[in-house]
Amino acid sequence: MTDFVFVPSPQPAVPVVGGGLFPVRRIFCVGKNYADHVKEMGGDPKNVPPVFFTKPADAVHTGGQFNFPLATDNLHYEGEMVVALKSGGTHIPEAEATGHIFGYAAGCDLTRRDLQAAAKEKGGPWDTAKALDDGAAVGPITPVADVGVLDKGSISLSVNGETRQQSDLSLMIWSLPEIIARLSGLFALKAGDLIYTGTPEGVGPLVVGDTCRIEVAGLAPLDFQVFERKG
Ligand code: MN
Repeated sequence: MTDFVFVPSPQPAVPVVGGGLFPVRRIFCVGKNYADHVKEMGGDPKNVPPVFFTKPADAVHTGGQFNFPLATDNLHYEGEMVVALKSGGTHIPEAEATGHIFGYAAGCDLTRRDLQAAAKEKGGPWDTAKALDDGAAVGPITPVADVGVLDKGSISLSVNGETRQQSDLSLMIWSLPEIIARLSGLFALKAGDLIYTGTPEGVGPLVVGDTCRIEVAGLAPLDFQVFERKG
C-alpha cells in the first residue's frame, strides 16, 4: 500500500508465550463483574447487568516502564484476566463461546478514578477515565492449548510486593461464555479482540515509583513500574 498520506501507526501487539505476537484489533472491557468490587464502588451486586466499555487498541501496554498518565491525581489499578480471541462473529451462543478463545493473559485496566467519578456524577461517558494512553496493560498471552479453559483459579495484584487484590476467577458474576455471547450481540467480534473481564475488590491508587504485578494462576505475570511522565 503506497497510498497512505503518512506512515501508519504500528500495529499494537502482545507477545505470546512460546513465540509470536498477537495483533490487537479492539479492546472490550467488562465493569462490575465481581460482587465485592461492585460493593466497594457503592453499587448493588444483586442488580448488575454487565457494563461494557472499550479502550483503543493502541492503549495496549505490555509491561515495563509505565508513564504516569496525563490529567489525573488518582490513577487506579484494576487487576483483571484478559481473554484474547482467535475468531469471532455475531450472536455467538454461550455453548460455542470458548471455541473462539486464542488464549489468556494477566492484565491491568488502568483507570483515572477522579475522571470516572466526575463522569458518574454527571451521567457522562467513561472515555476520559478508561481510554487513557497506555491504559490497557497486558502480560504475555498463554494459548488456551497450553492452559485449558480458565473458569477458576487465583487472581491477584500486588503493589511494591504487597498484596492488594486477591480473588478467584470463579467469583465472576458473568462467566466468560456469558460475556462473549452478550458482547457479540452488541459488536461483531473478530480475531485480535481482547476482553478485560473485570476486577475483584481491593482497587486502589498507583503513584510514581510503584511497581505493580498481576498474577493469574497458570499464566505469565504482568509487571510494570510507574515513572514520572516527561512531556
Ligand atoms: Mn476494570
